[in-house]
Amino acid sequence: MEEDEDAMMEQTRKLPTMPSHASLTQPPPSTHLHNRGDPALAPSFIPPSASKSLSPGSEPFPSHHLTGHMSDAYPEGQPKPSDSESNSASQLAKRDSLVEPNSDWSDEEVLPRSGLPVGSLATGLCYDERMRFHCEVRPTSDVHPEDPRRIWYIYKELCRAGLVDDPMSTRPLAPQTLQRIDVRKATEEQITMIHSDAHYAFVKSTADMSDNDLVLLEHQKDSIYFNDLTFASSILSAGGAIETCLAVAQRKVKNAIAVIRPPGHHAEHDEAMGFCLFNNVSVAARVCQKELGEKCRKIMILDWDVHHGNGIQQAFYEDPNVLYVSLHVYQNGRFYPGGPAGDWDHCGEGPGLGRNVNIPWPDQGMGDGDYMWAFQKVVMPIATEFNPDLVIISAGFDAAAGDVLGGCFVSPPCYAQMTHMLMTLADGKIAVCLEGGYNFRSISKSALAVTKTLMGEPPDRLMNTLPTEAAKATVGRVMNIQAQHWRCMFPKPASHPIWADRLHGMLAAPSAHGQSLTATSDILRDYQSKQLYEEFKLTPLWIYRTAISKSFKNQVLASPNCDKAVPLIVIFHDPPELMGHPDPVTNRMDAHNTWVADAEKDYIAWVAKQGYAVIDVNIPKHITREPATGRYEDEDANRPTATEELASYLWDNYIETGNFTEIFFMGIGNAFYGVANLLINRENLYQRVNGIVSFVAENPIRAIASPTQTWLSKWYRENSLVFVSETHGVWGKPERKPSKRYGTLIKSPESQLSEMLDRHKDEVFKWISERAEEDSEEGEDTDQDAEMKD
Ligand SMILES: [Zn+2]
Repeated sequence: MEEDEDAMMEQTRKLPTMPSHASLTQPPPSTHLHNRGDPALAPSFIPPSASKSLSPGSEPFPSHHLTGHMSDAYPEGQPKPSDSESNSASQLAKRDSLVEPNSDWSDEEVLPRSGLPVGSLATGLCYDERMRFHCEVRPTSDVHPEDPRRIWYIYKELCRAGLVDDPMSTRPLAPQTLQRIDVRKATEEQITMIHSDAHYAFVKSTADMSDNDLVLLEHQKDSIYFNDLTFASSILSAGGAIETCLAVAQRKVKNAIAVIRPPGHHAEHDEAMGFCLFNNVSVAARVCQKELGEKCRKIMILDWDVHHGNGIQQAFYEDPNVLYVSLHVYQNGRFYPGGPAGDWDHCGEGPGLGRNVNIPWPDQGMGDGDYMWAFQKVVMPIATEFNPDLVIISAGFDAAAGDVLGGCFVSPPCYAQMTHMLMTLADGKIAVCLEGGYNFRSISKSALAVTKTLMGEPPDRLMNTLPTEAAKATVGRVMNIQAQHWRCMFPKPASHPIWADRLHGMLAAPSAHGQSLTATSDILRDYQSKQLYEEFKLTPLWIYRTAISKSFKNQVLASPNCDKAVPLIVIFHDPPELMGHPDPVTNRMDAHNTWVADAEKDYIAWVAKQGYAVIDVNIPKHITREPATGRYEDEDANRPTATEELASYLWDNYIETGNFTEIFFMGIGNAFYGVANLLINRENLYQRVNGIVSFVAENPIRAIASPTQTWLSKWYRENSLVFVSETHGVWGKPERKPSKRYGTLIKSPESQLSEMLDRHKDEVFKWISERAEEDSEEGEDTDQDAEMKD
């Protein structure tokens, strides 16, 4: 049996390689390839060294390995292919190209990508023991939290989990271990892209100081210690961040984690503080931008360290190409590093405006649900809109459960989830750089969860997914302010001129109901009527006992010339639209943050200017007059009936009996129902009406048809303008022409009633005034037409 197998193998080996076979995966080979010796002699596809270490400038899969492979295969003494022969091979390759001659597309763009070109790359790991050399000269009994062992514990955790190919550790368990990224010293030129020359010189000078001077220095500075190896460690830490980010941005690895210290995100342009000497992540971001140009122009830095990364914010505050997002405990500016810089209203400046996003937790104690909420509501929408070329995580693990300094409760699965979400950005180019985190166990477990996620392991499930009230309030505030800078954020600040009238002051007026709530609709109509009186002398019409008159005394207002022989415009409208910034948690609307749209006022102004008469009818959405409650109220079901009742009353008592030369109806929103019902249910009433204008945003379009007045629809079609928002369902089926019962439909590019009124006012004014000037005998003509038809 064994012999047979061997024989088979032997046979297979002796089979000549078919040219067609080779051309499937490689450029057509030169004929010499056929003479290749035993395939067992050929080196393996991936050089074993490639999975071990990634030194600066090296590539995991050297592009020359194929050619090397080929030339190695030539038996000793046999001449290698001449230059002219390799040229002919490359010409052959060109002929087989899928690209048309003279096309500016490359083969790479035309050939479908196959396999997992990125997924099969390894995750990078940057770690170097020498970064442990920075430590306290004279450790007190109270060990400093920024303990050199922090990085060692994380590294050991990764080894224990079987992710690292380390000869000193257990056998790796992962099929593809972490690929080492060699640490390199950051240069002065690189450090000074972020820091001042003086600051670099200062940190460098500590290497030559006496122990006494170093201890003295520690007392002068803000939360930082020094020894004679501080400088050496800190340029390695910055260099580690640089190499890690470069390896990721250049796709030498799939993604990477840098287990580095001393941390960097507090270090400012000219200041070492908060355990930080050089701002590792900021330096790395600048180096990537400088070295890679357009390929790595836009960088997102996500900082989930429990402290605000003041140094990173400062470095890129005016830079439109670096989006800095920080989630941190703020405590009204009392939590380290303190001051107002970490607050939500610090959004960047100049060209960098909107590229700084602070999510300042009001206190410690935040957990998974809060971080998830912030990621779902703010971080990911903004990051997606920003669309970075590279994502760097300033990964402090001091918000982790168990960290005494941070006092928060973020679990390893939550760190994994956040990583997983960020991996959707920038083609997965994500570099994780360690910042703070002081509980050995917490940082090790958290870093392990993040690393496993980077390597492709799905994140563990979360135990707690609900945000706290504090988180919702914070995130809501951030959304409010970032809405000015990001299309994906809401609510937007009011900018359109129709939102010019603020409710401010009006709502502050003492309520007639004492402590109880007053429905804003009543206050609004009161305000409207006051304005309409002051500007156009509109006064309330006496309405005798209808549901609507009981509801509110100011619903029907009329101009002083209602007894004159002039054209009359009767406007039935819904209450004015309100917009505002509600409190995200309580939905409370502050009066000074609320706007009222009153686009009808322009129409009344025009009518007044023309010398026409106007009757302005406000149809409240909620008609029953009972003490107002804070409950959400639907529109009244009997609203159309009540509106029709009012319309009938007005018709009988004021309109028909008046001396008006022409009569026009305008219906805005659902209030039009009353007008429509009047036309349908009152025989021959339409004969006195010269035109109807209606605005429909989202409510159904009202058909005007009657079984007893068969010509009514035709009349309506000829004497109406019905503006319908382009988002309305009626436009959904272009192949079906809307029935004439709906009148003459006009598609409006606006979607809100107020905006529609504003946009189409000139059209409406022209249409009405032309009709008002026409011969008033037109009504009789229509009547004759209809009779002929019957
Ligand atoms: Zn921190």
